[in-house]
Amino acid sequence: MLKINENFLALPGDYLFAEVARRAARQEAAHPDKRLIRLGIGDVTLPLPRACVEAMKSAAEEQADAETFRGYGPYDGYGFLREAIVKNEYAPLGCNTAPGEIFVSDGAKSDCGNIGDIFSAECTVAVCDPVYPVYVDANVLAGRAGKYADGKWSRIAYMPCTAENGFIPKPEDLPAGNGDAAPDLIYLCSPNNPTGAAATKEELALWVDYANMHGSVILFDAAYRDFITESGLPRSIYEIPGAETCAIEFCSFSKKAGFTGTRCGWTVVPHALERGGARLYDLWMRRQATKYNGTSYIIQRGAEAVYSEEGAREVRGHIGAYLNNARVIREGLVSAGLEVYGGVNSPYIWFRAPGGLGSWEFFDRLLEEANVVTTPGAGFGPSGEGFIRLTAFGRMEDSVEAISRIKSIL
Ligand SMILES: *Cc1c(COP(=O)(O)O)cnc(C)c1O
Repeated sequence: MLKINENFLALPGDYLFAEVARRAARQEAAHPDKRLIRLGIGDVTLPLPRACVEAMKSAAEEQADAETFRGYGPYDGYGFLREAIVKNEYAPLGCNTAPGEIFVSDGAKSDCGNIGDIFSAECTVAVCDPVYPVYVDANVLAGRAGKYADGKWSRIAYMPCTAENGFIPKPEDLPAGNGDAAPDLIYLCSPNNPTGAAATKEELALWVDYANMHGSVILFDAAYRDFITESGLPRSIYEIPGAETCAIEFCSFSKKAGFTGTRCGWTVVPHALERGGARLYDLWMRRQATKYNGTSYIIQRGAEAVYSEEGAREVRGHIGAYLNNARVIREGLVSAGLEVYGGVNSPYIWFRAPGGLGSWEFFDRLLEEANVVTTPGAGFGPSGEGFIRLTAFGRMEDSVEAISRIKSIL
């Protein structure tokens, strides 16, 4: 008898965002006269840079001419984009990442989820708590997670990220109980979604040394690297000596340049990264060649334009606008006497619900009394309980208005 992948049945529903949407819809139906402001989900609101749109238009025209038409492209992306990424994203940081170590993709979410294909189902996994749900759910589907109880999977090691550790876990925060065995795969995300915390070089170096010593692989999500404002903070894990023998890095044009709907990102698999007698680069190339036929030529030309003079100027403007929203939100909440984190090197603001309220209780107050949609921290993991996440990706007027409404109900 045919058996389905029963891991799909083990996965709890997409409770968090579905429940947020359900409660927001109920509020809207009950109070049609009140305008909801949505600072919940992490989608951008500013349009694509003009330079990217123009580049995609001319790339589309090339496709109409037999002389310049392009069919299937390279599995790892066109050289022009991989070279532009190295020149603009890695060389200025002093990283010696090569174009031949980059895989252009349709976004970081796919690669973060698919990377598990190159590892055994027996690998053990460590994640932050709270966490971007993709890392966990992809491992559930791959059969690596064990049994689900009380918001956690039995074979996943959760590292609590709390105000006490500045929301940045250290190897010593790995839970005991696994014997002394180090996790095989360690997911790190900096600047972090949802907490907005950004790791220092010293903090990342602890993980790089740990992974090299124990043979673990770090899966480093740098989707928010462009939001770093404080000098000295690493934008790539390859700024840390030794990372090329233990880390894979995921990046995206989504938050950087508004590509959430256009779809483009990249993943770095260093040639020096070997495990089990194989180069992980070769395994990932084989995986992509088997299951992916490359990112659209037109989109790759659009992404390349992010690095043109005009594109770079527009991107700086967008990121500056979101960071300004983050500042307005952050300062507003601080002046209301709340305990606030993030929002400096990140478009996310993470704050503690006042009066010891739970995440969902305060979510409901913000929704019903201020008509502001947020995301309850508890939805990202047990250690998120008591916190709320706000995004700075909304419109400026909405960020200002939301904060004044929130202050008025406190
Ligand atoms: C938004 C986001 C991404 C980017 O996803 P894309 O698929 O490139 O749009 C990756 N990681 C985190 C943590 C994110 O929040």
